[in-house]
Amino acid sequence: MRGTAGSGDTTCVSYDREASCRRCRVYCDWVIDPVGCLGCACLYAYDAKDGRRYVGCVERVHASEVDLGVLEQYAAEQRVFGGLRALRVPLPICSAAIDSAYPRRLPEIGCVNPEFYEPPGGGTFVVRAHDEPSQRDV
Ligand code: SF4
Ligand code: SF4
Repeated sequence: MRGTAGSGDTTCVSYDREASCRRCRVYCDWVIDPVGCLGCACLYAYDAKDGRRYVGCVERVHASEVDLGVLEQYAAEQRVFGGLRALRVPLPICSAAIDSAYPRRLPEIGCVNPEFYEPPGGGTFVVRAHDEPSQRDV
């Protein structure tokens, strides 16, 4: 995983941004580490017939349901579970990062959608031009 989300905001506010980018052949996706969901108010849980308890995301940031016992074991061992692909852009509270599939395919011009890498809740992308002083101004 490359890049990490999170602005320090702990609220479940939604942001109208894309969760995947296919504007070049790299293919970037926001992914969620579900271990970071433990303790989140947006987590739902249910007991399955197999005796296990599964948890998922009320906000549908991701669509997976994961064995709670496994998540708690990973958390206790401070292990990384692995990224679950986000269906929508993560919330500031999510443990999220960007996964880039084929970084070698990056065009010569570089990423043409740098806004995609902005952390959720981190504000808008700004480009500033700085002119070199001309000889006349020196
Ligand atoms: S994906 Fe984000 S919003 Fe959903 S349960 Fe996890 S931390 Fe909460
Ligand atoms: S490198 Fe940039 S343009 Fe290409 S897929 Fe990723 S975010 Fe989109």
